[in-house]
Amino acid sequence: MSSTRTVIIGAGIVGLCTAYELLQRGRDVIVLDRESTLDGASAGNAGLFSIGHAPLTKPGASWRGLRWMFDSRSPLWIRPSLSPALLHWLWTFHRHCTPDHLERATRTLCALGWRTAQALERILDREGIDCFYKRCGWMDLILDERNLAAAQREGRSLAPYGYRTDAISGRELRRRDPAYRDEVAGAIHYLDSAILHPGLLLRGLANAVRSHGGEVRLGCEVAGFVRATDGRCIGARLTSGEILEGDSVVLAAGIWSDPLAAQLGIAVPMQAARGYHVQLEGTGVLPLHGGVMHETFVAYNPMGSQLRLAGTLEIGPTGRPWMRKRLHALTAAARRYLHGIDRAHVTAEWAGYRPCTADGMPVIGPVPTIPGLFIGTGHAMMGLMLGPVTGRILCADICRTQQEIDPNLIDCMRPRRLRTSRAA
Ligand SMILES: Cc1cc2nc3c(=O)[nH]c(=O)nc-3n(C[C@H](O)[C@H](O)[C@H](O)COP(=O)(O)OP(=O)(O)OC[C@H]3O[C@@H](n4cnc5c(N)ncnc54)[C@H](O)[C@@H]3O)c2cc1C
Repeated sequence: MSSTRTVIIGAGIVGLCTAYELLQRGRDVIVLDRESTLDGASAGNAGLFSIGHAPLTKPGASWRGLRWMFDSRSPLWIRPSLSPALLHWLWTFHRHCTPDHLERATRTLCALGWRTAQALERILDREGIDCFYKRCGWMDLILDERNLAAAQREGRSLAPYGYRTDAISGRELRRRDPAYRDEVAGAIHYLDSAILHPGLLLRGLANAVRSHGGEVRLGCEVAGFVRATDGRCIGARLTSGEILEGDSVVLAAGIWSDPLAAQLGIAVPMQAARGYHVQLEGTGVLPLHGGVMHETFVAYNPMGSQLRLAGTLEIGPTGRPWMRKRLHALTAAARRYLHGIDRAHVTAEWAGYRPCTADGMPVIGPVPTIPGLFIGTGHAMMGLMLGPVTGRILCADICRTQQEIDPNLIDCMRPRRLRTSRAA
């Protein structure tokens, strides 16, 4: 066993960013993923690097979710079920939809936002990764004038944390960018954010990890953990029987982290929120920015010559057949905001799972009851954006160096709250 090797389970954005940061600190890493291609949530997402993002748990979100529960075409849909885990998750989610929790979560996420942008840009510059990264901000596109004031208020609520927004009229928007249809009444431009191609980023990260001497092994499924006689977690056991050891293990297996952690008696209560993307070629004019279509929650992002439309939150068990009407809802939504959707043809369709905790915050850090084990998951719809800073936080935890971020701020993301949340 190597005394400075970390075994990382999951080659998503969290696993790869953590591997990269550990290598920068002179440690050895091996990243394991059961898929043979890098094509999970971290590659198929919308590609909005939206720093200063608010969590899902906003006041009123639980009631709106409940109303939408009966409409399988709505942006957020919960597959009806009496599963105790789902009911517990929904109740905990509801209890966190308060102004106090939103304020605390926003404060943390806003602080992380600046750090994660710095961390990502450092990696892109150092490694020369070309993933269409553009720090051009993102647009909240609004059709219904009655939604403009609230959207503007939401944008301004980030001003105390240093985030800039610009309210743009529909006419001005079209003057700047002819991609938008006349029906768009206006937009809020979140100026500090960025857009990118997440698949290219992930591939670039994997190459960077390999080029710095780390190993990224695809097509190997982790079946369980290896523990030393003193209880320390020191490795992973593959389904093939092979054992890979180190001095620490990072569980970064997205939504599948919970069943793996359960083997160690730890609960990471999460629900899988499936989302879809469709990739279009031939729209004619492509928007200059990415963004979100406010009324439908569908995201759009120009990637090279193509346009990616991504969205919908479908809460339920993993592995069920795709709901094609939810996939089709993406293009139906975009038709109302953007030119050229009807003339375009589909080049790819995809679905993947967001790992969603009930309090809307990720779980990052050492597991107090199991020395050697670290967790990085639960990033819901913010994982692309929070991946780079998660890598830095975990790296500081593993290397026992000082955190760059005020420990009080990141306290609400620490794994020790898991027990509390389950007990609740
Ligand atoms: C439609 C959609 C749009 C989104 N848009 C955005 C966006 O614009 N911006 C943003 O910030 N976030 C976005 N997200 C969220 C983001 O994609 C996720 O939060 C993020 O990808 C989670 O990363 P991860 O590394 O935790 O997990 P994953 O990317 O799921 O990676 C986990 C990996 O673990 C592997 N694994 C699981 N079990 C095992 C095992 N037993 N053995 C070995 N390997 C295993 C899996 O194969 C997988 O590759 C979006 C998500 C979706 C679905």
